[in-house]
Amino acid sequence: YLVLGIETSCDDTSVCLYDRHSRREPPKLISSLTASLDNTEFKGIVPTLALNHHQVHLAPLVSRVLSSGNGLQQYRPDLICVTRGPGMRGSLSVGVEFAKGLSLAWGVPMVGVHHMLGHLLTPRLLTNGSSPQFPFLSLLASGGHTMLVLSSSLLDHQILANTIDIAMGDAIDKSARELGLNGNMNGPELEKLVRAHESSVMAGVSKALTKDELAEFGIQVKLPLQPKPGRPQAPAFSFSSFVSMVSRGVAKKGGLDALSETEVQVIGKQIQDAIFDHVIDRITFTLSTLPKKVVGGIRDFVLSGGVGSNLVLRQKLQDACSDTGMNLHFPPLELCTDNARMIAWTGIELWETEGLHSSYDIMPTAKWPLDNILGEVDGWLR
Ligand code: ATP
Ligand code: FE
Repeated sequence: YLVLGIETSCDDTSVCLYDRHSRREPPKLISSLTASLDNTEFKGIVPTLALNHHQVHLAPLVSRVLSSGNGLQQYRPDLICVTRGPGMRGSLSVGVEFAKGLSLAWGVPMVGVHHMLGHLLTPRLLTNGSSPQFPFLSLLASGGHTMLVLSSSLLDHQILANTIDIAMGDAIDKSARELGLNGNMNGPELEKLVRAHESSVMAGVSKALTKDELAEFGIQVKLPLQPKPGRPQAPAFSFSSFVSMVSRGVAKKGGLDALSETEVQVIGKQIQDAIFDHVIDRITFTLSTLPKKVVGGIRDFVLSGGVGSNLVLRQKLQDACSDTGMNLHFPPLELCTDNARMIAWTGIELWETEGLHSSYDIMPTAKWPLDNILGEVDGWLR
């Protein structure tokens, strides 16, 4: 059967079409198209502009995907999978209402998919659900979420650690902006800046700063949530202090204009390393609080969400996991950030293994906890 995927939770409009030709093999991708909103003029996402963007692009993208075969005939999908939440309400509603219309017109079922479940199941898309197998761990690291999750089955997800303030991607975007970066997505820009620094050190063009020189910078990297007398350690993440470390450091140096290119790169590297070190530190601690039997039963660890495409983070996780015996899974870069393909796959899993689909009165769900996917919202049909 043919599966249409629609993702409009944030600012990218993404549509895809899969051929589920066999249940024994991964679905075959027929077409996948994404229209990204350029946010460089603004400091982050403007909800009304994102809404307009989806309204302008969704129908044309669906139309192009449906006519992507040769000949004049349009594909007619048998299942529609659409992101229902969490995300921005207006943005979500464009996708959800459009999916309802198509589902009604074609007389085919529609599944309202949880966006974070999509990020979580992404690596299973390429293996037809055979790997990673439940139970597995995931670090979901995106623009709006940072969670360490233990998934025991398709619908049973336990959040072991969550951020107490902003998400990792948000902290990276804001820190990078303090350093004068202004890309559409700042995470990859910061990663590039750090890599440029490392190559120029390697090539002998600039030198790595000594510890004393770094201290001179005024950026004293302190990892948050460290144990103190009288305060037990928390299985949690915290990222807002990293942003203030950068802005204080830059201000202390007399502002961005007073900094040399190398100095900006050095700060960027320090902050990127610190954010990732903090994440590893908290994952290690959180896992140490779990019963040995539980940890012993986990063989797979997934890194997913936009920040998961960062190669430095991947390497650090690899190093940290090397003696745990867990297999690490990194989805391909293009499947780490928001995409309709992960939504289509998640809908396929829900439909095939649980027989789940959605009624026509479902609403976009801005807040939707991952640990209560079925119970939190109405509108599930079996
Ligand atoms: P959510 O999934 O929580 O709703 P989102 O969909 O906006 O949030 P994603 O698209 O999964 O998030 O990820 C976007 C985030 O990932 C941005 O903060 C971006 O800067 C960050 N990011 C993307 N690539 C990289 C990279 N190479 N290094 C670091 N961060 C990155
Ligand atoms: Fe996302």
